[in-house]
Amino acid sequence: MREFNPFAKRWMKGDRRVALVYPNRYVGGIANIGLQQIYAEVNAIEGCVCERFYWDVFECKRSIETGTPLNEFDIAFFSIQYEEDYFRIAEIVKNFKGVKVAGGPCVMENPLPLVEFFDYFYFGEVDDEVPEVISACESGSETEHLKKAENIGEERVKVRRAELNTHLQTQIIGEGAYGKCYLLEVGRGCKRACSFCMVRQIYAPCRWREVELLLSVAEEAKKFVSKIALVAPSVTDHPEIKELIASLVEMGFLVSPSSIRADTIDEELMQLLSKSGVESITIAPEAGSERMRKLLRKGIDEEDVLNASQLASQHGIRKVKLYFMIGLPKESEEDVSAIVELSKQVKRFVPRVTVSINPLVPKPHTPLQWLPFGGKDDVKEGLASLKKKMSFLKKELLKAGISVSVGSVDEFATQAILSRGGRKIGRAIAMNSFKFKDYIDYLGRIDEEELPWDFIDHGYSKKRLAKEYERLMSLVR
Ligand code: SF4
Repeated sequence: MREFNPFAKRWMKGDRRVALVYPNRYVGGIANIGLQQIYAEVNAIEGCVCERFYWDVFECKRSIETGTPLNEFDIAFFSIQYEEDYFRIAEIVKNFKGVKVAGGPCVMENPLPLVEFFDYFYFGEVDDEVPEVISACESGSETEHLKKAENIGEERVKVRRAELNTHLQTQIIGEGAYGKCYLLEVGRGCKRACSFCMVRQIYAPCRWREVELLLSVAEEAKKFVSKIALVAPSVTDHPEIKELIASLVEMGFLVSPSSIRADTIDEELMQLLSKSGVESITIAPEAGSERMRKLLRKGIDEEDVLNASQLASQHGIRKVKLYFMIGLPKESEEDVSAIVELSKQVKRFVPRVTVSINPLVPKPHTPLQWLPFGGKDDVKEGLASLKKKMSFLKKELLKAGISVSVGSVDEFATQAILSRGGRKIGRAIAMNSFKFKDYIDYLGRIDEEELPWDFIDHGYSKKRLAKEYERLMSLVR
């Protein structure tokens, strides 16, 4: 693995060994600024050495830095970004005797299926609290946001939000999801209110970093890299995004934003993006018809999508990737066909269009959390209709010369079960006996008052979420 690591620290007898485990691919882990922050903080503690573990590098059995076996570490911090990781986690923790701590979006979503595998859970953004977390793990105590697995679900836990008035300066530079680049985290949270998205709740409120701070960090990074990835859930919503990109381009950087909202694209922004080396753009209309887009509250209409595609083509960007979801409540054949129509219209402007279609997973902490997976009250019917819609879309899009990638319905159903599941699911995973068909009940409409993840306090009012749900459902009745 070729990477530039300015932190590499040699272990000396008596030092504590802290493992940073990313149970997924290296490209994702190295492009995660949160992991980079934890790594830097642990290595800054005297008498502590941090080493990293990735699933596609020795299956997380040995560290990437020195090849030291995971068993030899005292504490392991796991960052859990995806539900699919739970199966790998079961493997990784099998023979580990040290203290196991989990954090990341899946913990903030619903950690109950993970209780089986960990000693502690950290709720929120750990930035600059890493030393306190290590001390608590060593003394067997808890903190406001670090809770013992055995106590999870018993009392309300407030999720921590960090201040963004500083930025990690030194970083490991590796070949990650955005290429070999420096990560500039422009903000956290999102000011939008898309009804299917957890980010709006679990990272609320929306916070931006000042351009001045970002540029001073970039100035230092110039010594090591020529490319900057701008990172945030909705990068182009930064109030001074154009000034920021223009200044970075002037400093000689290639700039790659991790996300672009179609409705923020205008002539000036597109010109900047094309100047900064962007060769393709990704747009997520999420649904093909206006009726379904209203339900999803994405706030992007057909005109925004076509306008962005046209501007892209005028500025030499010849590739557009479109993201859609299906399996929405009351979704009709016309709603599904509208995905094909919209994609064809985009293709009028750009020669290379790729469409990605996945089933909607009704996520905890969103107004759609009560919905059945597949969009129908009869779950089996919902699963069958998803498969039918997927094959229809694949056929029609390919016919129109559009590349298409469709998500596996079974894999997304599994994701929904793990998102909503409890301890029982974790035990089945640990025993290697989990089959999604045995847990199909978890995919149905949720009618209960109390939800398993209600104990996580993200600062939103559940009553307001329920009202939003009612209002959205009234749009498609
Ligand atoms: S989908 Fe994107 S724009 Fe919408 S709330 Fe989530 S992060 Fe924000």
